[in-house]
Amino acid sequence: LLQLSAPLFMLGMMYREVKQALTNMERLFDLLDERQDVRDSSDAEVLASSHPTVAFRNVRFGYDPRREILKGIDFEIASGSTVAVVGHSGSGKSTLARLLYRFYDVDAGSIAIDGHDLRALTQASLRGSIAIVPQDTVLFNDSIGYNIRYGRPEAGEDEVVAAARAAHIHDFIVGLPDGYDTPVGERGLKLSGGEKQRVAIARALLKNPSILIFDEATSALDSKSERAIQAELDRLAIGRTTLVIAHRLSTVMDADQILVMDAGRIIERGTHSQLRALDGVYAQMWELQQRQEDAALA
Ligand code: ATP
Repeated sequence: LLQLSAPLFMLGMMYREVKQALTNMERLFDLLDERQDVRDSSDAEVLASSHPTVAFRNVRFGYDPRREILKGIDFEIASGSTVAVVGHSGSGKSTLARLLYRFYDVDAGSIAIDGHDLRALTQASLRGSIAIVPQDTVLFNDSIGYNIRYGRPEAGEDEVVAAARAAHIHDFIVGLPDGYDTPVGERGLKLSGGEKQRVAIARALLKNPSILIFDEATSALDSKSERAIQAELDRLAIGRTTLVIAHRLSTVMDADQILVMDAGRIIERGTHSQLRALDGVYAQMWELQQRQEDAALA
């Protein structure tokens, strides 16, 4: 029994950690084929839309029933548009993404894609339609080629290369000792934060999802890499229904809608210019960030 329970315990720990981080959740679901807290209903439908609209309707949720984290969240991401979420640490931004990927079910209200409640869709089709570019991509101890192909294991060599090119990491890879076969991860080459994000972007490109979740890294890259990655993400988001969990305001300026969260509620919403004109919390955050950037340049 002990022999069996130790790995199960480890898996449980890993499950919680990974859940927390939103980092590696696609991988995790593959490992744990069988979900504990979320199951397909017997008449679950396959999500087929290639240009879906996502709607959160009065969503309430707490990881612990005694502590509600989301206190009535209402918003829509129109087909092909981008919604960015900003707000203090702990306000519930990443929780929105976890619910959209159906890590957990909502306690009240609903999340629907093209009018289909997530709970009425098969998990395989839901997760097959969503790609996540996480804060910190965990690389497997395998070749860099494998790590990109992970986005769609059946992809051909040429497709992997095309995705790497589009994510601007191909030239870097062909310069490595063994090219696409170079081992990476803990026991191989360590990639920088920016390189890892490019791998994540290439993976997402291969998966070709209709819904994209981008969890922006908190640890800042240098501003040149940041601008380059931003440009690649902007391209990846074209035509896809996109949710951005943003830590820097500079990256949300072009979003179709910005949501400002505070303690589990949306307190302001609008475009960058609308929110600046509103002269509320967003405008204050913006001015603070501008001053910090000016100070950093001085
Ligand atoms: P950050 O900007 O720091 O990433 P966030 O706005 O994304 O923060 P969330 O990660 O959504 O915040 O967390 C919202 C709240 O939910 C926090 O108070 C956090 O402590 C709590 N929380 C998050 N994950 C769990 C969990 N697995 N179990 C219990 N509480 C959790």
